[in-house]
Amino acid sequence: MRYEKALVWLRNDLRWEDNLTIKKATELAKTILPVYCLDPRQFGPGDFGLQKTGVHRARFLLETLRDLQEQIAAKGGKLLFLRGHPEKEIPALAREIGAGVICFSQEVTGEEIQVEEALEKEAWQHGIATESYWQATLFHIDDLPFPVNQLPEVFTRFRKECEKMASVRPLETMTEPVRFAIVPETISNKLPDLQELGYDQAAQEPAGDMPFKGGSSAAWKRLNHYFWKTAALADYKNTRNGLLGADYSSKFSPWLALGALSPRQIYWEIRRFESEKTKNQSTYWLIFELIWRDFFRLMAKKHGNRIFQLAGIQDKSGYRKEDREVFSKWSAGKTGIPFIDANMRELNQTGFMSNRGRQLVASFLVNDLEIDWRWGAAYFEQQLIDYDPCSNWGNWMYIAGVGNDPRSDRYFNILLQAKKYDPQGEYIARWIPELAKLTGFDRHIPFQLSSKTLKKRGVKLENDYPVPLVSPENWSI
Ligand code: FAD
Repeated sequence: MRYEKALVWLRNDLRWEDNLTIKKATELAKTILPVYCLDPRQFGPGDFGLQKTGVHRARFLLETLRDLQEQIAAKGGKLLFLRGHPEKEIPALAREIGAGVICFSQEVTGEEIQVEEALEKEAWQHGIATESYWQATLFHIDDLPFPVNQLPEVFTRFRKECEKMASVRPLETMTEPVRFAIVPETISNKLPDLQELGYDQAAQEPAGDMPFKGGSSAAWKRLNHYFWKTAALADYKNTRNGLLGADYSSKFSPWLALGALSPRQIYWEIRRFESEKTKNQSTYWLIFELIWRDFFRLMAKKHGNRIFQLAGIQDKSGYRKEDREVFSKWSAGKTGIPFIDANMRELNQTGFMSNRGRQLVASFLVNDLEIDWRWGAAYFEQQLIDYDPCSNWGNWMYIAGVGNDPRSDRYFNILLQAKKYDPQGEYIARWIPELAKLTGFDRHIPFQLSSKTLKKRGVKLENDYPVPLVSPENWSI
């Protein structure tokens, strides 16, 4: 053991099991002290007049921290909570408790790296060592068949080479017994509530079909449900474009984003499912999607802050209308195009939207409304409970045509998509109750219905539901 005490600075790795950073800390020092720092910059203003973290994700984060706090307490330890800038607070705590080393997981995006670098500088100035570890991806960065600066820009090549040349590492298990450092009584470990973070405590509870609850305990409950209780995994490839209900896709993303569940934990459970239940295209497809997640994280590492810029990684100029009024109608789900509005309303009320929905609302904002794609990405950043900078900005760039897409146009005909994915308008009825009085596919096209039909069904366009912002004539079905 090199050190008496190690401070474990937890970030987006909020789990006890399969946590390389915690494991390494226990190997480096006789005792460890886990700590999470609530950074006010994460709860303040973001870009384009939006908030960085909306209430749904703030709630999910607090639940995650509470869960981890309980797990650590059950092991005889304490998870400390600090509030402030981690680059100041973490080294200051390390000095106060006499920790010789600070251990943390590496991030890949600009703001997070700046914090890491400033923290390291501050720690080193006071003779405290730092150790950081890579652990957010399915494939470890050191096992990839290419250096980061030579990563293939096209997903298919990236995936195929990874599948051929790299393997997924086994889960991390502790090799040393864990001993927690004694925490001085003067240090508070109270977890703030939503109100203390500046949110309305009484903010409406999410109203979706899927009860998202933060923390690895809930993540494993979900995994057990999706894999073992319902075997929904075995049909994933056929259902993954769904819109309604809890089980059309895994819904693992919010837990993955905060690290309450690791991609390797999911991978090894899929392998177990394949050997104990069934192995088919669906079980493979969940791994395929996890490789997409790796791809966007590694692209962020390769391209740095370019993923946040209008021209993306392709140096192309895109649409960049700055029309606040149109943008706020899109955000509020009031564009007059039901399929777009239903998805945005789901996002606003729950913090979640299906992958199909995300592609459609993004394409609509960029291609039909011709608004700067970064506004949409920043809105998702505010609203999504599964917000992950790499997956979010990477997917937005992709749809805006300035990312890693070998195809140049990702234009979606919204009505054709509605015909394919919601032919009976059930999704519309779920999220736009004012259109539920219409029947079947009519719910997607109130603007094409005769005044007689609208009257018969008791729907008044403009009063009950807006007229379309764009002409739907372009979408032939
Ligand atoms: P499943 O279909 O069950 O997939 C399993 C896992 O694979 C997901 O949890 C996710 O980790 C990964 N995955 C699946 N699709 C993608 C993808 N296209 N890109 C990267 N990873 C993927 N995902 C986020 O986790 N955070 C984001 O901020 C985010 N923003 C997005 C923005 C846009 C415009 C688009 C089009 C997609 C975005 N995605 C994002 C990707 C994807 O929509 C979500 O990961 C997925 O819908 C989450 O639901 P699920 O866990 O049920 O996914």
